[in-house]
Amino acid sequence: MSKKGLVERLNGGDNVIVAEGYLFEFERRGYLKAGTFVPEVVIEQPDLVKSLHEEYVHAGSDVTLAFTYYGHREKLKFIGREADIETLNVQALKIAKEVADKTGTLMAGNICNSTIYEKNNQEANDMAKAMFKEQIQWAVQYGADFIVAETFSDFGEASLALECVKQYGNGLPAVVSFITSNSDETLDGIPVVEACKRLEDAGAAVVGLNCGRGPRTMMPLVRKIRHACKGPIAALPVPYRTTVGQPTFQSLQDPETGKAVFPEDLPAFLCSRSQIVEFATEAKEVGVQYVGLCCGSSSHCLRVLAEVYGRQPPACKYSPDMSKHFMWGKDPHFKKYYTEGLRNEFLKEAI
Ligand SMILES: [Zn+2]
Repeated sequence: MSKKGLVERLNGGDNVIVAEGYLFEFERRGYLKAGTFVPEVVIEQPDLVKSLHEEYVHAGSDVTLAFTYYGHREKLKFIGREADIETLNVQALKIAKEVADKTGTLMAGNICNSTIYEKNNQEANDMAKAMFKEQIQWAVQYGADFIVAETFSDFGEASLALECVKQYGNGLPAVVSFITSNSDETLDGIPVVEACKRLEDAGAAVVGLNCGRGPRTMMPLVRKIRHACKGPIAALPVPYRTTVGQPTFQSLQDPETGKAVFPEDLPAFLCSRSQIVEFATEAKEVGVQYVGLCCGSSSHCLRVLAEVYGRQPPACKYSPDMSKHFMWGKDPHFKKYYTEGLRNEFLKEAI
């Protein structure tokens, strides 16, 4: 039986849950450097990449996203590994394809902001285009079902990426998303809602937002995008407690020191599972069909999101049930010595 493609799923009214955040997860585990953020782990420890894909599918992802984010020529050149670019991309795609085939998930190729694009700089933009082209062609060659083009700050760069998917993507659908700063406009001055509309009109299968903002500050914009666009939209916030005054994870400051926490001290601002439930509930109600979590996410966050979207991925076998806890549970099996005695000791406020 052939699996349904991305567009078929979305047009049929299905939702597509997408695990992202590979860079942050591997940085946290000690296999990738914060700063350059290059997915060298694909070359150095391919088994770990495979394992993380499997873990995210286990937790509810419908998509196995090849880990080629920032595996582009500019980044590899910067760390002196330009010669490894094909090895890295091919390896990442093969791993993702293997997991996708085994699990029945969709395999996506991944391109992103080039970090060299500049409005009105033709030479830089030709280089960005060449970077998109080679990564898209590898994704096609190794069997991607669609292409994710993401974290664009400029409408111009997102348009260029979409143009490249159309030109070199052998008809594969494109999911194109913006990262928004503290402003609701792209860096090249287009309201992001309008930018999404234009990309949809230009043929993107899905448009929307990923990264940058947490659920609380991303959702007001997502609602406007839902209103403006006709087709499926994407929302993949970072799971951090951003605020109106500090709407992105780059702008979050430690209240005790006033210092920026991005990226090393971000864990203090992680969303609770309940806050992920709130996000997923709102996203579902708004009609976000392509939904997930970006940098900072991990499997337990994705699992609760999947549950709100009505799924029961294998990881739900181990979803929390505190009624079974010897101290917090109400079952008569448990001794009052613990459910009352010890529990009350833990609940006492320190004097
Ligand atoms: Zn991200």
